[in-house]
This record gives sequence, structure tokens and C-alpha cells, in this order.
Amino acid sequence: MSAFASRADEFRPSPVRAVFEVARDPSVVSLAGGNPDLSVLPADAVGDLAGTLLRGRAGELLQYGSGAGMDELRQLVVKLMARGGSTVTEHDVLPTTGSQAGLDLVTKLYCNPGDVILAEGPTYVGALGVFGAYEAEVRHVEMDHDGMQPEAVAQALDELAAQGRRVPFVYVIPSFQNPTGVTMPEERRRELVAVCAQRDVLIVEDDPYALLGFDRGEPVPSMHGMDPKHVIHLGSFSKIFAPGLRVGWMAAPPEVRGRLQIAAESVVIHPSNVAQSLVTSWVGSEHWQPALDRAVELYRERWTAMEEALTQYMPESASWTTPTGGFFTWVTAEQLRGRDILADAVAHGVVLVPGSACYMDGRESDAVRLAFSGVAPARITEGVRRFAEVLKAG
Ligand code: PMP
Repeated sequence: MSAFASRADEFRPSPVRAVFEVARDPSVVSLAGGNPDLSVLPADAVGDLAGTLLRGRAGELLQYGSGAGMDELRQLVVKLMARGGSTVTEHDVLPTTGSQAGLDLVTKLYCNPGDVILAEGPTYVGALGVFGAYEAEVRHVEMDHDGMQPEAVAQALDELAAQGRRVPFVYVIPSFQNPTGVTMPEERRRELVAVCAQRDVLIVEDDPYALLGFDRGEPVPSMHGMDPKHVIHLGSFSKIFAPGLRVGWMAAPPEVRGRLQIAAESVVIHPSNVAQSLVTSWVGSEHWQPALDRAVELYRERWTAMEEALTQYMPESASWTTPTGGFFTWVTAEQLRGRDILADAVAHGVVLVPGSACYMDGRESDAVRLAFSGVAPARITEGVRRFAEVLKAG
């Protein structure tokens, strides 16, 4: 008999974290991790802020804080969410230790073992790890170039209801989706919200990439703003400031937020005061927007380099999505089917995320996720060239 709880059988290591080890070798090009580029952050300005905060408010920041998070951060989130069309007050906002933790909390609050979560097919590998740990099943819903298809969601919800299956929520990454790079237009978001609201099913909107559009216009309105009663929103400072600080947030109606807070308190007591105050000071400062604009300009240049390399090196049969922001593209090619693509890629000095990792059942996939965010253009070109060699060698 196992010494571990039965749910431990469902704990799965992130395939992305596993390739990080390989990616440490400097001769290997990593197109695997979706890392933000931190080179644009003015180290002196960030360091000065951190120093000022710690010198001036050590007694408060180094002491235990509130499970509700810091007021100053919640007020900042209210302003940020207004950019996506959401009218929230600070009572709707719960700071988290990153949106990964938000995913864990919302699943812990809503999901019983054996429930069925609807998610895009493919979806974020880190979400699959959470859903598995709470012993949920995942039904992947088909996507097209505008993201998850609302009619397919409606059909799946009706089928599952007829079978008496419980669906705690529909999980959606609407902007520059991880792993496909696809963005759901406003109209599609409204349709999806209507489908779920009609059936009184909750949507979990995981939107860490919303502010990373290459055109630097305002983001597509969030589903949370369309129907705050049926949508729990997860946000993150990882891609718009620094992932190492581990600060994100959730927005939910106050009674739900209160329960999420209790769930969070039993794990972390509260997110780091130092990290929350640094995020508030940085994102609230005049330095933040220009630094973010520079970072997104880099991502746009890197996507251009990747698109050129794909066009130059990929076989005729390959195709890929065209992201208009964010970190990823999804490359499909018949040569990818039925092989251990990660092992073959490592042998050719490049790492990526195999498509099968983005499905709960690990189904065979003819696609991979390539990330362009954290790699210089010349390395991207070399990485794509190596990836093309892998396909030819198959
Ligand atoms: N959700 C999605 C869709 C992501 O891509 C990521 C990060 N890769 C996360 C959540 C987790 O982000 P955080 O650093 O905020 O925990």
C-alpha cells in the first residue's frame, strides 16, 4: 500500500520545468520557457525603490501582514483591471503568490474529485497539473483561430449535464493563449460568457498576457468585465514586471473572494509584504509603462525573427499560429506525429514544449509550443533551424 494519499498519484511534474534542466547547457537553444525579458528593467531604479521601501517601512513590511493582501496593491489592481473594462472595487480583489496559486485556490474551492473542467485544447500545462492534483477530469474544447468555440462549449456542457456530471468551471486563457498564442476577439468572449451564464456555469479567466499586445493598444475587454458574477479573473505581475516576486491577483465577488482568502491563508498566510509593496511602487511609478513598452517591442521583434525563421526553414507541410502579442506560437507539422519530439529536439540542441503535454490525457500531438519571449533574435533563428533539422531527421 502506498504511504501517499491517493491524490498524489495525480501529481505530475511540469514538463516545462523538466526541460529547464537541459536548457541550462549554454549550447542548447531554449524555445521552451515562457520567460519575460528582464533586461529592460532599469536595475538602479528598481533597486532604489526596494531600498527606499525597506529603509522607510521595514517594521511594517517585514512583519506578518493581512491575508486580504495590501490595500495599496488592491487599489492598483482596481486601476489595472479598468483597462480591460472591469469595474471592481478593492473588496473584489485578492492578491496571490502568482496566478499559479490563484488557479490552485479556485480549483480547491470549486472542484470535487471526478468533476469535469472544460479547458481549451490545447491548454496551459501548469493548469493541468493543478486540475490533476484535485482529481478533476478535463474535457478539452476545440479551438479555431479565434480561440475556444462557444458552440462546442455549449454542446459539452449540455452533454455533461445530461450525464449528471458536475462542471465546476470552464477554464479559459483569452489573450495570447498559452500555448497557441491565439486571442479571443470581443464578440467571441461575449458569446462564451452568454453560453456559460445561461447555464449558470462559472468561467475562470486566466489572463496574464492581456497587456502584451504588439500594437500597444488597449487590451480586448475581459470577460470578467462582461459578467463579474459568472467570471473569476486571474491576473499576474509575472509577465508585466517580474515573475521572481511571485505576485498576482484574483478578482471575484466579495463573498467568493472571502472564501478564497481563507483557502489562501491556510497555505501561505499572506503573500510577501515586501514583494507586494515593490510591485505597487514599481507598477504605480512613471517608469513602469515605458519599461513594459520596451519589453513588448522586444517580444514583437523576436516574433518577427521567429516568423522569418519558420518561413525559411520549416517543411512545406508545417503551419503555425500568428500571435499578435504575448510569448508563444503553436507549430503543427505531420512530421511531429508519433515521436518523442522532446528527446529528438534535445539531441539536436534545442528544447521546446511538446504538444501532447498540453492535453490532460497526454494524447498524441502533431504540434509543439515555441516561445520567443526570452531569447535574442539570432538564437531564435538558430533554434528554429535546429528544430527544422529534427523534422527532416524524422
Ligand atoms: N497561467 C498561465 C496561462 C501562464 O502562462 C502562467 C505562467 N506561465 C501562469 C498562469 C502562472 O503565472 P504566475 O507566474 O503568475 O504564477
